[in-house]
Amino acid sequence: MSAFATPVSLRPAPVHPAYMTTEADDVELARRWREDRKRWSERETVSDFEQAFGSWNGSRHVAAFDSGRMALRAALEALELEPGAEVIVPGYTCVVVPNAVRAARLTPVFADIELDSYGLDPAAVERVLSSATRAIVVQHLYGLVSLHFESLLALARRNDLRVIEDCAQAMGAIWRGDRVGTVGDIGIYSTERSKVISTGEGGLAVTEDARLGARLARAAEDAAAPSEDRVRRILDVVPLLHRQGHARGPLRGSPLARARRAARIYPTTTVEEEQGDGPEFPPSRMSAPAAALGMNQLRKIESFNTRRRAAAERWDDWCVLTGHRRPVVAPGSTPIFLRYPVLVDPERKRWRDWAVRELGVELGVWFTGKLHPRDPDIPDLPHADTAVARCVNLPTLLPDPG
Ligand SMILES: *Cc1c(COP(=O)(O)O)cnc(C)c1O
Repeated sequence: MSAFATPVSLRPAPVHPAYMTTEADDVELARRWREDRKRWSERETVSDFEQAFGSWNGSRHVAAFDSGRMALRAALEALELEPGAEVIVPGYTCVVVPNAVRAARLTPVFADIELDSYGLDPAAVERVLSSATRAIVVQHLYGLVSLHFESLLALARRNDLRVIEDCAQAMGAIWRGDRVGTVGDIGIYSTERSKVISTGEGGLAVTEDARLGARLARAAEDAAAPSEDRVRRILDVVPLLHRQGHARGPLRGSPLARARRAARIYPTTTVEEEQGDGPEFPPSRMSAPAAALGMNQLRKIESFNTRRRAAAERWDDWCVLTGHRRPVVAPGSTPIFLRYPVLVDPERKRWRDWAVRELGVELGVWFTGKLHPRDPDIPDLPHADTAVARCVNLPTLLPDPG
């Protein structure tokens, strides 16, 4: 760019990829709950949300937790595997996923992914199978249904493995008429602020199996309520998410103003969690305010996902024009494109400002390490290494122009 670059005020404000789901009505709802502290541990609001999610998702049993990682831990514990049993996990995921496996006293074993939908590669799974393998965590990343889902299910059946679907990024995606998360033994979802719908932080576990459903319900029942500090922190961040996600125009969108606001948004993963030694986070259940936000967001999920799919079509066109490889949609599936993943030159993942200049959007970087944000040296994950170096994601929930 020349020294006389377009003044900031004339440049389109970059669209933040993460927090677009938080809208003015959610901010108002959070404000009301902020003042109603007596009701924060109310159970009824949470079971209303569980029921509403179940009937929307087509799930018989739903249990709500304080985060997706806690839902995953509860899911693994509900399987009642013997301590130390091996669970196959994608080698391209969040560090909180293997942490949850360890917290459940199980052993994560990493398998490589494919670079079409960023799901598990069945051949790589075969290679790490052992006599101690009992379960497999199948992921539907970026809102795409895992391309080899059918082979992975067949592989699990052949080897008598339980299947947990990690749908943290894919709530609402459909595979052969069913929503993801309802196909395996247990499905887990995240309602963290950057996911398909946001309750600030939160997570859900679903199953069709009555025994597993009862165990999940008991886990949620026995879990402590989140601390008042935590609930207050979540509610206080909602207006910040809204402003960050919807910042438009000259000053509010200036890099400095945005950086200042971003700094006030606390990270949802602690340093200890990032170090990856599975700190003992006690599972807690979802708070009533989070469930109330979830109810409100659930009313909007179809419109969010419709908008995401429409944006993905435009990114498809962009890929064709620019020679990028398009993500592959599994036959018979309807993705929701939480983000639109593409492989770019490593330099363009490291230095991301080109996207603001060329596309007017901020890039997402899930994942910057095989166990995001960590990048431990795990052998035999060449595709995961490629994705860490080259996979960026484009936002799909864009504000109305104007
Ligand atoms: C976000 C995420 C999780 C964990 O969800 P939290 O609510 O943040 O605990 C698990 N798996 C994947 C793929 C995720 O993106």
